Amino acid sequence: RCFRSQDCDPGALQEQTVAVVGYGNLGRSVALNLHDSGCKVLVGNIGDEYRTVAAEDGFTSCEIAEAVAGAEITLVLLPDDVIPDVFPDAIAPALRAGSAVCFASGYALAYGLVDPPAGVDVLVIAPRMLGDEVRRAYTEGFFSYISVEHDASGQAEPRLLALADAVGSLRRGAVALSAKQEALLDLFVEQTFGPYLGMALQTAFQVGTEAGLPSEAMALELYMSGEMARTLQAFADQGFFRAVGHHGTTAAYGGVTRLSGVDTEGMLAFFRQTLADIRDGGFAERLQQERDAGYPTLEAVREFTDSPSPITDAEQNLRKEFPVLRATG
Ligand code: NDP
Repeated sequence: RCFRSQDCDPGALQEQTVAVVGYGNLGRSVALNLHDSGCKVLVGNIGDEYRTVAAEDGFTSCEIAEAVAGAEITLVLLPDDVIPDVFPDAIAPALRAGSAVCFASGYALAYGLVDPPAGVDVLVIAPRMLGDEVRRAYTEGFFSYISVEHDASGQAEPRLLALADAVGSLRRGAVALSAKQEALLDLFVEQTFGPYLGMALQTAFQVGTEAGLPSEAMALELYMSGEMARTLQAFADQGFFRAVGHHGTTAAYGGVTRLSGVDTEGMLAFFRQTLADIRDGGFAERLQQERDAGYPTLEAVREFTDSPSPITDAEQNLRKEFPVLRATG
């Protein structure tokens, strides 16, 4: 099922205060969007600089439990792996009977990492958009997956749709997808397509530069020029096969004839194995263990990505030469 603004009754949010818990990437955008849609917003965050930013943005900001207790709708916008720690003590006991709790990803619900009280509506609005882009896309809207996971009030769906519209999503559209499916879809694509794309980019850079191609030209070719990003956009605008068909003869012939050299069996096996591991909860279990151990794997990766590398050098040289390529974010 698909939903757009005309499917919602904005009255379903009337007189309701929304608590935005977590004023991070997505939390700030969502709070500002809700405010612009006329909602009364309370921000709940731990007492650090994010709470100060919320106050500077004009919001009443307080401890998480206080915000939840003062609201009819609570949006849980904490990092997925953090939610299981914060939810039982700071959120669940403060949720009022008849209120709603809404997550921005299916993760915590899909793997049974939270246990919302029975008298509360449980909703999911999972944007298909980066956190800060959710703010920029307020007027034109952005896609999201939405779901009612538990309807305690009998009004969960109108509430969900009104909330999705107030956040800005329904101006573009939302698709109904359960928390379990949303989590599987999101994790599956980022753990299969993502690593292949990243590895293909690094391997092409390595082999090309080994053969004497300038590293700056390799970076420009692979992503810095924006041609690759536009190619992906053309898949959306024209259709995947049509856009591929629009490539010139040389690119089309070269690409197609190299397909037979791709290890599709290996790729299929990797994708299927990864999907099964995510679906069975193996990945979620390891992620929570990683958090409990203080993120040793992520620390090691950060050390690696922060250290000097030929790719980073090439990017910096290009940025120096072409100010239009200045780093953002
Ligand atoms: P962030 O990493 O930006 O963190 C969100 C907030 O959580 C911050 O205010 C942070 O405060 C707070 N926080 C972190 N640790 C704790 C803790 N132990 N106790 C209390 N508060 C804590 O998260 P995102 O905005 O990226 O993600 C939020 C949700 O939105 C997730 O469910 C994610 O899957 C979903 N989502 C995110 C998107 C994105 O592009 N970012 C897109 C679509 C969905 P502090 O840093 O001060 O600790």
